[in-house]
Amino acid sequence: PYNGPSAAEILAKRKTYLSPSLLHSYSKALNVVDGKRQYLFDDEGRRYLDAFGGIATVCCGHCHPDVVEAIVNQTKRLQHSTVLYLNSAIADFAEALASKLPGDLKVVFFTNSGTEANELAILIAKLYTGSQDIISLRNGYHGNAAGTMGATGQSIWKYNVVQGGVHHALNPDPYRGVFGTDGEKYAKDVQDLIDFGTSGNVAAFVSEAIQGVGGIVELAPGYLPPVYSGIKKAGGLCIADEVQSGFARTGSHFWGFETQGVVPDIVTMAKGIGNGIPLGAVVTTPEIAEVLSRRLYFNTFGGNPVCTAAGLAVLRVIEKENLQENALVVGSYVKERLNALKDKYEIIGDVRGRGLMLGVELVTDRQQKTPAKAETLHIMDQMKELGVLIGKGGYHGNVFRITPPLCFTKEDADFLVDAMDHAMSKM
Ligand code: PMP
Repeated sequence: PYNGPSAAEILAKRKTYLSPSLLHSYSKALNVVDGKRQYLFDDEGRRYLDAFGGIATVCCGHCHPDVVEAIVNQTKRLQHSTVLYLNSAIADFAEALASKLPGDLKVVFFTNSGTEANELAILIAKLYTGSQDIISLRNGYHGNAAGTMGATGQSIWKYNVVQGGVHHALNPDPYRGVFGTDGEKYAKDVQDLIDFGTSGNVAAFVSEAIQGVGGIVELAPGYLPPVYSGIKKAGGLCIADEVQSGFARTGSHFWGFETQGVVPDIVTMAKGIGNGIPLGAVVTTPEIAEVLSRRLYFNTFGGNPVCTAAGLAVLRVIEKENLQENALVVGSYVKERLNALKDKYEIIGDVRGRGLMLGVELVTDRQQKTPAKAETLHIMDQMKELGVLIGKGGYHGNVFRITPPLCFTKEDADFLVDAMDHAMSKM
């Protein structure tokens, strides 16, 4: 049993001592104290099915015993900076990670977060190309430091940051975008930006394959191939931000970019990579990686032995438990059931995504696609009362994000959709 401070006491401390910009997901904040695989437990011992935590951090499920064991063993043995001495944990994980990537993507730089990974990727691209302009997508999210905040394409996540040569391209959003599902038409906008907004040379194009924070928006089919070739012609590098869509989540593929049949020059990752341990990575080719040797590059804890031991354990669990296959099978089943709900409730405007990265967009009017913001929060609150946690996202906060740990089962899927069905039936 839990003997710690109550939710109200924690909230009071948070108000006094922590950032005023912190949010919590529900009208009444939830105090989670334990986690096991796809379940979370609150301070009263109530169990919740966690259909969101897969992206917040957890890929294999909360406190997976293999990952915990790897962390504990390495912590007992040695925790140190990565940079000063040799240690096998970092080299072993780099090798294992590189083996999951296509082409010549085999040099790994470790960081502590997704923001750091994308900042480093942008730096590498600028050094390699000698150009400064970056093209990213409207509605994308890449981090909260100067460069990545500039590249992020949603005002709600930006302070008064200097955008530093970032051009935001039309979002190839099949549901709300002007060209519907025609990926090639959206790709022309990137070419326009290159032709009319830059010197003709760019440093990089960066995008997610499925936008996570932006509300589970899958890029329109056929979009990335022409964009990547246009960027290449303009001397730029293509960066795939796999912070959310990587690590088998899409089910059909290990990496999100593979769903569009492209091979990036740089891949960035974080979140699920360490199953909750702070870890990020940038993977690129030996030729591109070489640019960092022009100066010294140093990250005290990026890739430290404890985090990389966790990372290696995560890759092994994904393989041992066939989690990619599970994401495909269970994810397709959830999507099918959500589509059936869409037939039942007018408020569901769109069901989308793949594998265990799914979105449900709520609208008050299907024709106008008016965001049903208040209803989204209300249904989320109701689902929490029924014991199911899901996420919320999109610029208007009207999209449910369903991104559970990859060990999610069909029974969990039924419980999730039944809870949503029940909550919607009471609206
Ligand atoms: N890229 C994507 C696609 C993300 O979703 C996020 C985090 N929401 C980041 C980068 C930044 O990662 P971090 O919060 O670890 O800095």
